Amino acid sequence: MIRPDLHLHTTASDGQYDVWNVARMVQRADVTLFAITDHDTMAALPAAADAAYERGLAFLPGVEISSAAEESNVHVLGYGVNPNDPVLCAVFEQMRQDRIRRIALMGERLAEMGMSLPMDEIFSSAGDSIGRPHLARALVKRGFASDTGEAFHLYLKRGCPAYVKRNLPDAAEAVSLLRERGAAPVIAHPGEIHLPMERIVQLLEQWKKAGLMGLEVYHPANRGHYAEWDRIAREKHLLVTGGSDFHGDGTNHGSIGETAKEWPRALHDAWALFRAAEKK
Ligand code: AMP
Ligand code: FE
Ligand code: FE
Ligand code: ZN
Repeated sequence: MIRPDLHLHTTASDGQYDVWNVARMVQRADVTLFAITDHDTMAALPAAADAAYERGLAFLPGVEISSAAEESNVHVLGYGVNPNDPVLCAVFEQMRQDRIRRIALMGERLAEMGMSLPMDEIFSSAGDSIGRPHLARALVKRGFASDTGEAFHLYLKRGCPAYVKRNLPDAAEAVSLLRERGAAPVIAHPGEIHLPMERIVQLLEQWKKAGLMGLEVYHPANRGHYAEWDRIAREKHLLVTGGSDFHGDGTNHGSIGETAKEWPRALHDAWALFRAAEKK
């Protein structure tokens, strides 16, 4: 029986466990097919492939690109990426620089609000993709928030005083970039897109024209709406995917393997994605 988890983060982005530990936990959770999908970085993929091989697990190299559409953040997953792809690496290098700029500014704002954080330490302990979760954990550690959810709610989410915007590509651009580079683009967690469902459904049509191949239906943020998103994806002939979005913490993030239990056609769907991602 295949038990897939196609959405996992490591310390290369904002996960709390390194890739070797994630692979160990994947096996312990009886997940047999996994994908590492760090935010805007492919740094963990070579080690993930080695770890998968050593443990006899099926593995798909992935990435989760931050993008925007109509004032909402949209995350685009790409499966079957080549971690040495020069075009993708150049795009992610730009995003890395922008992340550093943004988190440094947010650190300054927090300091002005009386919450000085050891920014050098935070930067040096983060991987290639520093983000707000790194600030959230530092705020919790120093007692400025009781958990990371509260840190986001009080200080870090859009609209809060310490919030600084990132420069993000348009979602259609992220989709077409992935497709051009031979990867299978999938819209992540539609339940986290801050637009009405009808609008998201319209946008899916536009993104299909840009090369979209799938929709991440079985994600913790979609819970309660699995049947709806599943029907929409299949009607539009999009691949259906799923994953826990494991980070080691976080409110909309699950534990490894949990969404596979609620994904009735996991074997069929994961196999279809595997074929799409392997075909270049
Ligand atoms: P960034 O890439 O810096 O914009 O941060 C986005 C990341 O923050 C997401 O990938 C989540 O891991 C995390 N995140 C977003 N909102 C929340 C929240 N309300 N509570 C905890 N973590 C969150
Ligand atoms: Fe994250
Ligand atoms: Fe995401
Ligand atoms: Zn994610």
